[in-house]
Amino acid sequence: MSELRYDGQTVVVTGAGGGLGKAYATFFGSRGANVVVNDLGGSFKGEGKSSKAADVVVDEIVKAGGKAVANYDNVLDGEAIIDTAIKAFGRIDILINNAGILRDVSFKNMSDQDWDLVLAVHVRGAYKCARAAWPHFRKQKYGRVISTASAAGLFGNFGQANYSAAKLALVGFTETLAKEGLKYDILCNTIAPIAASRMTETIMPPDVLKALQPSWVVPLVAVLTHKSNTETGAIYEVGGGHIAKIRWERSKGAIYRADSSLTPGAVLSKWNEVNDFSEPEYPTGPANFMELLEEAQKLPPNKP
Ligand code: NAD
Repeated sequence: MSELRYDGQTVVVTGAGGGLGKAYATFFGSRGANVVVNDLGGSFKGEGKSSKAADVVVDEIVKAGGKAVANYDNVLDGEAIIDTAIKAFGRIDILINNAGILRDVSFKNMSDQDWDLVLAVHVRGAYKCARAAWPHFRKQKYGRVISTASAAGLFGNFGQANYSAAKLALVGFTETLAKEGLKYDILCNTIAPIAASRMTETIMPPDVLKALQPSWVVPLVAVLTHKSNTETGAIYEVGGGHIAKIRWERSKGAIYRADSSLTPGAVLSKWNEVNDFSEPEYPTGPANFMELLEEAQKLPPNKP
């Protein structure tokens, strides 16, 4: 397969001063793209700021012969970040919503601030950046968006109620953008990565971290953001050399007559059918309840 290239395209990578974001930014810089390296330069808990993180990555890209500019805005100021791309390069083609912070704490001890800050950076930050890029994508009938979820969002994880809520929110967000963007060739996908970074270095042993290079997440992001990609609205788990697609599964379920005989006791009478995945469906939208309702009305009253 020929090398995937991004010549003439502009990529905005948020939180590109380190970890995964830096790996994406340097890759795109080496494949012909104009790169906006955004990073607020704070701590992994979202405290402080500095221009150094973004500057170091821009220097690296430029020294290697690539084109990059720095942006130090908070992702909550998405317009300013996209503006940097337009002013420096005249366009925006690819947005990688990657910036993130952690405020891990057991739910019992979680403060409103821990909740609000994590939700703001991940969810509102991704929204503000995508919202600012969207009119450009629509006008040029082209765009690629990656949002960064997490296994914690898909499956839950101790001490991460705030982070899990934020990360799963990005899945729903991206699924909707995928539906709205399709006719303009704006393709939007979610990744749930795992990689060694300052976020994971305190919770994983060194030998495990060695097996989780951020650069091993990059090729999937490269494929999903390339003009040849056709996937949209998908979720991929990626890391340590493994890439897998995740999708929703719906049980065939039970049909109840929808009338006053639909009591809790009636629900329990078919509880096994509700929870039985032996005849699964893989939905991309809600069940067709009008069709199900018609079927339900043909049934006799439910047994309690
Ligand atoms: P990281 O801490 O190295 O990178 C995050 C970057 O985002 C930092 O450079 C930080 O300065 C920047 N940032 C934070 N808040 C910002 C804001 N408000 N505005 C602009 N920049 C901001 O961590 P990472 O592991 O590379 O994480 C990248 C993304 O991947 C995050 O969204 C994270 O939640 C997600 N993720 C990582 C893992 C993993 O295993 N590393 C697993 C699941 C999800």
